[in-house]
Amino acid sequence: MLVCPHCQFGNPDDHKFCQRCGTSLTEITCQECGAMVDFEVEQCHKCGAETAIEWRAILTPKLADWPAASPDFLDAQQRYLLQTPLPTPLTGEVEITVRDFQPFQASLIELLELDPIEAEPQLVAVATQAIPAIAQPYIEVQSQSPALPQIHDAIEQAEFTTVILQDRSQFPPLSEVWSSDEVLPLQMLHWMHEMVELWGILQPIGFAQSLLKLDNLRVDEDQLLSLQRLHADETGRSA
Ligand SMILES: [Zn+2]
Ligand SMILES: [Zn+2]
Repeated sequence: MLVCPHCQFGNPDDHKFCQRCGTSLTEITCQECGAMVDFEVEQCHKCGAETAIEWRAILTPKLADWPAASPDFLDAQQRYLLQTPLPTPLTGEVEITVRDFQPFQASLIELLELDPIEAEPQLVAVATQAIPAIAQPYIEVQSQSPALPQIHDAIEQAEFTTVILQDRSQFPPLSEVWSSDEVLPLQMLHWMHEMVELWGILQPIGFAQSLLKLDNLRVDEDQLLSLQRLHADETGRSA
């Protein structure tokens, strides 16, 4: 099922345009110049800007000697291409950038969020069962504040489990922005207020660590606080 990037309608796999609003399901809009660009190319044909769609994957190995050689793709459908090879073997959790080669294809998380009238019930049932435990806290918190990490997909395999998040690694760290000369005291107060609010969401479910790891606190282009990912508290649930 292809999810329309404009109206989120679920379309059959062979459709080139959204059945409800007519938006293209093969092209994306260049963020720099507004040109329509085939999603399989890396650069806008008009302005040369990067148009590849990337996500941040957090991968946790389940087997001791995996992988013998780094795979190219995270998944059997060859959707998420690893942008850097995995260490062999992988001895612990790793964060890695992946490129999306099927950006309109409904992810597990999108299947859950589809209007039940459009979604094929058996697909939703499969998605609900396939969501790995590692993804649950992300699904639980993401609607509560845009500052919290936004999950896009999750994959559970015999060898590893992974969550695929919006990539915020390019946003500057809050610690850097905080210490620059241009920051107004009012802005600092606002960030502190946001952190208190986020603490109220994360602490009760055992993920307050997410606010205590300095590198995890980022600032987006609108000067809003953005957390890259969740970190579990020692005594809390594991992420
Ligand atoms: Zn649409
Ligand atoms: Zn462009």
